Amino acid sequence: MRSSKSDRSNAIKQRGQRLVSGFPASIDRILDDCSRSREQYESFEIVCRVLRPEGKAYLCRQSTAYRKAVLDLQRVILPAIRRICPVCPHGTCCRLQSSDLSIYIARSVGGFELVDFLLARHGKKLPAPDYAKNHENLCAFWDRGCRLPPASRSLLCLQYFCESLRRELDMNLVELRLEAVRAVVDGFSLAKLLK
Ligand code: SF4
Ligand code: SF4
Repeated sequence: MRSSKSDRSNAIKQRGQRLVSGFPASIDRILDDCSRSREQYESFEIVCRVLRPEGKAYLCRQSTAYRKAVLDLQRVILPAIRRICPVCPHGTCCRLQSSDLSIYIARSVGGFELVDFLLARHGKKLPAPDYAKNHENLCAFWDRGCRLPPASRSLLCLQYFCESLRRELDMNLVELRLEAVRAVVDGFSLAKLLK
């Protein structure tokens, strides 16, 4: 059941990619995607509840590695985010749909897929998604900034950098740190989790 590196990371990337043609323009389509991603997110929570002790022990080790890799990455990017995002002329990039953004986040709550959700969520109570925000064209975790703890972000959100951020950051270092996060996600074994 283990996905290969290209399978999992690329699937996450592609899922968030804005469609070049046919980018969803109607609010009905966006809310439809949100409704499906909400159901999926709720099913992720169920997986957490049914794990056996061996699976939990495996998840615990992998989750520690994920959080460490994410925090190492956040140490590189958060100073720039704190500097430029509050004065961003585009408002927030955590909107579900916007013509000037390169990602589309309505297909998953908080950008999470099952594996990065489990890794980010293990042993933590994440803030509850506020689905009313979807009707304001915003991610369910957004409220004057991301409400998720810095170490518990999805790989999709961690991989997004607008041009302004790219100019501020040492992208070679960012890529190195991102690789470490991807390595944990790609190396995760669902077979070991469900043992
Ligand atoms: S990441 Fe870029 S687009 Fe998003 S709020 Fe910050 S400056 Fe604006
Ligand atoms: S999870 Fe956080 S960073 Fe990602 S889109 Fe939502 S508010 Fe933005």
